[in-house]
Amino acid sequence: MKILEKGDKKIRFVVEDITPALAGELRRVMISEIPTMAIEWVDFHKNDSVLWDEIIASRLGLIPLVFDAKFYNLKGNCKCGGKGCVHCQVSFKLKKKGPCMVYSGDMVPSDEKVRPVYDNIPIVELTEGQELELEAFAELNLGKEHAKWQAAVVGYRNVPNIIIGKGGNKSDYEKRCPKHVFVFQNKKLEVDKPLECNMCLQCVELSNGAIKVEADETKFLFNVESTCGLKPEEIVLKSMDILEEKLEELSKDLSKLK
Ligand code: SF4
Ligand SMILES: [Zn+2]
Repeated sequence: MKILEKGDKKIRFVVEDITPALAGELRRVMISEIPTMAIEWVDFHKNDSVLWDEIIASRLGLIPLVFDAKFYNLKGNCKCGGKGCVHCQVSFKLKKKGPCMVYSGDMVPSDEKVRPVYDNIPIVELTEGQELELEAFAELNLGKEHAKWQAAVVGYRNVPNIIIGKGGNKSDYEKRCPKHVFVFQNKKLEVDKPLECNMCLQCVELSNGAIKVEADETKFLFNVESTCGLKPEEIVLKSMDILEEKLEELSKDLSKLK
């Protein structure tokens, strides 16, 4: 595995020696099986705003939250038996009076380590005299239950193999390739940035087959963008743990069939 870029929200890496099935499964686990924190229940005490309770609740649910992944449990796995306790639930209080814009940063959490990823997400505007007062409850869950718990946006593609053969007028390709994959110097065409290639096959057509571009079925380029409070590298590592657990479970089940 080779990391090409790593930021606060995004990671880009190449994985070698895996099958297309494993690449697809890694993506699926990152999107739908990593527990993240989101608001699930809202008690409204007062809402004079122009938005209905349901719309405000839906907006609150979509606010990504930072949380300690080691401290919190999925409700179904918690010792409280799913009733809700400090290990599986966080509450947020919100009380504002207009005129003002209510932002995600106005919510006051019961655990200060749980907070919105961004404090400036607008929730609703209150005009003179309007009031909003509510208590919201966040919990861990999975992206396969609802998109608000989706941990990341993940895309991947095969790494291309670009082979420059004999023949064809090669001086053109440096300019013609839309992704600037080639360099032409000292009368020689070379592949400079193979990972930029999007396999549009323009070079193959232009060269009448002198250039070959094929997808490598064992190498994949992944782009992972976190949409929750977890860092992108945490999402990648966690997805591998989860996949391993799932495979162990499958292996145990299969051994019972013997
Ligand atoms: S397939 Fe398209 S992007 Fe890739 S090298 Fe050829 S022209 Fe460039
Ligand atoms: Zn609990």
